[in-house]
Amino acid sequence: MTRLDRDSALTWGAEETVDLLVVGLGVTGAGVALDAASRGLTVLAVDARDLAFGTSRWSSKLVHGGLRYLAKGQLGVAHESAVERHVLMTSTAPHLTRSLPMVLPLTSAVGRAQGALAMQGFRAGDLLRRGARTPSSLLPRPRRLTAAETAARVPGVHPSVRGGLLSYDGQLEDDARLVVALARTAVGYGARVATRVRASSVTGTGAVLSDTVSGTSLSVRARAVVNATGVWADRLVDGLSLRPSRGTHLVLRGTAVPASVAVTAPVPGSVNRFVFTLPQPDGLVYLGLTDEPVDGPVPDVPVPSEEEIDFLLSTASTAFERPLTRADVVGAYAGLRPLISAQGGTADLSREHAVLTSPDGVVTVVGGKLTTYRKMASDAVDAVLAQGSLHAGPCRTRALPLVGATGAPPADAPARLVRRYGAEAGVVLEAARSTGLADDELLAPVADGVPVTLAELLFGVTHEGALDVDDLLDRRTRVGLVAADRAAAEPAARRALSLAGR
Ligand SMILES: Cc1cc2nc3c(=O)[nH]c(=O)nc-3n(C[C@H](O)[C@H](O)[C@H](O)COP(=O)(O)OP(=O)(O)OC[C@H]3O[C@@H](n4cnc5c(N)ncnc54)[C@H](O)[C@@H]3O)c2cc1C
Repeated sequence: MTRLDRDSALTWGAEETVDLLVVGLGVTGAGVALDAASRGLTVLAVDARDLAFGTSRWSSKLVHGGLRYLAKGQLGVAHESAVERHVLMTSTAPHLTRSLPMVLPLTSAVGRAQGALAMQGFRAGDLLRRGARTPSSLLPRPRRLTAAETAARVPGVHPSVRGGLLSYDGQLEDDARLVVALARTAVGYGARVATRVRASSVTGTGAVLSDTVSGTSLSVRARAVVNATGVWADRLVDGLSLRPSRGTHLVLRGTAVPASVAVTAPVPGSVNRFVFTLPQPDGLVYLGLTDEPVDGPVPDVPVPSEEEIDFLLSTASTAFERPLTRADVVGAYAGLRPLISAQGGTADLSREHAVLTSPDGVVTVVGGKLTTYRKMASDAVDAVLAQGSLHAGPCRTRALPLVGATGAPPADAPARLVRRYGAEAGVVLEAARSTGLADDELLAPVADGVPVTLAELLFGVTHEGALDVDDLLDRRTRVGLVAADRAAAEPAARRALSLAGR
């Protein structure tokens, strides 16, 4: 069974000349590792911190169908996004994705022209779905709702509601879980993956890496190097300059806003900017999203500003009878989109991606979306092969299911594990039972109101490369998004680490 094994990855990387060194294990780097390994290349992939430490864990967790690109006339990117959504939802990760109903309540805050324009947009988005051949049984067509239907779907909707617009998009179980699944799938194809390994310098033929656990440094020889370090990418190569923009989400309990449907509210004074409430499987609801240019050094963990919190609360409140307040906010998180400084201005790479080859041969892949990681990875590996020092076949990932995507979980596997691990739910259970603990203990919520189980935490350590409490609570699970839940779950995380011998 596929396990991340940091020590053997590092020993191997120090001894061999690897075909490809991938620096950065967000969705992009993990995708590159899988793409290259599945084409038969030998791969070492490292991250300075942990899987999904950067932007990849701070997203809206949507699998976008490309509607936003249509509004900007970027037809090609829009189609690509719809196709990648289709691939994720139907073949590579159906177990980690689902369809999310979204309602735009037509309240006094939404003008008639604005409502009509939004419906046109949803219809155009539906054309993208059809173009990608995603069945309407998976992502139903958009439609208008009556006032009564809207009120039934959006409890607590603003009393001025005169109807609503219902549309569907894809939603991830969790963004960090997609990254973990990608990394483990890559390992299944022979890639070696090591966290807590920072690249201090890279060239087209290798890198100097520092192992932040042992404090040692090692030189790795590689036939090619891909820089997939997201908003940090310009620190490793010359000739690239990034200026990030921050996007913030608030975390609310499902008791504060509807927990079964996403609710959309337009930003006052704008035609095509909206905020969304995004219900999550564990009963929390995220509310996003802002877009704030950031100057100065890139922080490890970006922090939302007070203004962003106020903006999100007041904008979303236009959809509801009871205005949302600070008392409803149980957490908040922010992520950085890379904006590339180009000649004559900046280009928003969060809407597309760039693959740049430095004079010394390092291939940098930056920008794009979680949704389009597979295409980004394939373009990056194609750029590596175009250099001529490595030979491999074409990209195979379109038809390559991630761990847990195929087969059936055992009939008695708990629904929660099936939701988070797909067909691997039985493996998670078996690994947990090998500790000798009873199911009651392994499968119970680790604390009051925290549905994560000890079995998941154990699997995080034994198979998913978690090295400490932070890895377990902030990335393998997302308990850390609510500080009070995190504190309550910490003893269970420590116990999982000790049971697994860490
Ligand atoms: C607020 C927000 C919301 C978003 N919502 C969505 C959404 O709903 N759907 C969607 O499809 N996309 C969304 N996106 C876009 C998506 O999140 C990003 O495009 C994607 O996560 C970028 O991944 P990455 O792997 O390129 O970068 P990152 O995830 O940032 O990964 C870079 C990694 O490199 C590592 N690293 C850095 N320097 C070094 C070094 N020297 N050595 C080794 N490792 C290093 C870091 O630790 C990090 O783990 C959103 C983006 C933002 C900002």
